[in-house]
Amino acid sequence: MSTSYAIIGAGLAGLTAAREIHTLDPDAHIDVFEATDRIGGKLHTVAFDAGPTDMGAEAYLAFRADATEFFTELGLADRIVHPGPHTSMIYSGGRLHPLPHDTVMGIPSASASLGDLVGQDTRARIDAEGDAPGIDWTVGADTSVGSLVRARFGDDVVDHVVSALLGGVYSCPADELGLRATVPQLAAELDDLAEAGERVTLSRALKSLDEKKRSRKTLTPKEKLTPEKTPVFGAFRGGYAELYEELAEQSGADIHLDTFVSGIVPGDGRYRITGAGDTAYDRVLITVPAPTAAVLLRDVAPDAATAARAVKLSSSVVVGMRFDSGDSLPDHSGILIAADEPDMHAKAFTFSSKKWPHIGERGGAFVRASFGTFGDDSMLKIGEDELVDHALDDLQKITGFDGRAAGLSEIYTQYWWGGLPRFSDTHLDTVATVRTAVDAVPTVDVAGAWVDGVGVPAVIAGARAAARRLAGVN
Ligand SMILES: Cc1cc2nc3c(=O)[nH]c(=O)nc-3n(C[C@H](O)[C@H](O)[C@H](O)COP(=O)(O)OP(=O)(O)OC[C@H]3O[C@@H](n4cnc5c(N)ncnc54)[C@H](O)[C@@H]3O)c2cc1C
Repeated sequence: MSTSYAIIGAGLAGLTAAREIHTLDPDAHIDVFEATDRIGGKLHTVAFDAGPTDMGAEAYLAFRADATEFFTELGLADRIVHPGPHTSMIYSGGRLHPLPHDTVMGIPSASASLGDLVGQDTRARIDAEGDAPGIDWTVGADTSVGSLVRARFGDDVVDHVVSALLGGVYSCPADELGLRATVPQLAAELDDLAEAGERVTLSRALKSLDEKKRSRKTLTPKEKLTPEKTPVFGAFRGGYAELYEELAEQSGADIHLDTFVSGIVPGDGRYRITGAGDTAYDRVLITVPAPTAAVLLRDVAPDAATAARAVKLSSSVVVGMRFDSGDSLPDHSGILIAADEPDMHAKAFTFSSKKWPHIGERGGAFVRASFGTFGDDSMLKIGEDELVDHALDDLQKITGFDGRAAGLSEIYTQYWWGGLPRFSDTHLDTVATVRTAVDAVPTVDVAGAWVDGVGVPAVIAGARAAARRLAGVN
């Protein structure tokens, strides 16, 4: 008898796990249940006239060798592309600034890194922080990135820089994000200082991180060459559809679209999936966002369900705009907008046709405007026409690019309600509780961004590990 698997959710985690299970156990019967009418979840490639373009995730961290190896294994190595030479900017105080160098997610070890993104008082405060009384830091404790940086360096560092950088990844202001979940290397440095009985300051922790980074570059030729040679970001020439369609193809699974799962009912050592027919399954993998996972875990791992309810989601909306002419679009890969910048609606622009040579080759210009952050859904409640007007007005104000005159020929608006989990300062504890409770039930598992990390490589690694656990392969 072959083993039967039910996978809930056909996003990246669900499809990756299905493909992994099929590879490990080709005789397994795998059903994937997806609530919507398409696969991919937060990966969504849209067929613009000029070519396929991503309206969800648009890149991945290419120095994650495990992801690159996986894409190679899938036969997609020759589809991977990398960004061109243009860099990003920050719009703060009514003008554009280069993205600060030598910082950890915008947190500087010295004021020089921030240039004139902050004023003289804040610069003096940053440079004096190393001599200030130490932080009352408990090894292993957590705090929000925002509150830590505000207390040590002042509000402007958070509101002009750190929230813009972290918000670009997590769609949350720095005050809503846990240090250990989002800047773990800095949390570990603070632990080291406290453990060594030294005075704990942000500057000392950041300088130590900086020294380690520099010394790594001089260790061995391999370590020296690798980070310099590997581009930081990668993407797929034809968009993420190349990945999710290939995963579906190689999964050997039956994928059931428009199938909303509302419960998992255990009985006789097997599981029935409410909303997905009468079949009983040997193993179940839940890959849906946390609030829905909490509902599905209720009858199979109640403690995990209770813990998962604590995870909140942030929403955002992406407007993709194609212009006939891109001549006056500045040579930047994108612009992040400072959290406290008045009279702005967008939080970021990606100049896709500048950032990615394969999109630039299509001619014209392509810009993605992003709106919305954790705790503020106001931009998700307005229609496409208004969003486009805001995007064009903001873009013109920031860069002088007149999108209306450039010939706006195609628009796609993607609302991402609950698009990303908030990685708060209790998130890692929540995930540890979920993991312990789920591990006690070897025939049920969870995977996906909220348990494994939001980046594409982290989601892939987590889904593959969950598939191995379910299949009983270490
Ligand atoms: C706007 C945006 C931009 C991003 N940019 C990047 C980026 O550039 N680089 C990067 O690495 N990451 C990025 N990410 C993050 C990354 O896309 C996600 O972390 C990842 O795709 C999540 O995959 P997942 O499978 O965990 O979840 P999902 O993609 O959410 O998949 C879950 C699936 O479950 C389905 N589902 C939900 N409830 C049910 C139910 N009851 N029954 C059946 N099915 C259900 C959903 O419809 C969905 O298809 C971005 C995310 C967003 C929202």
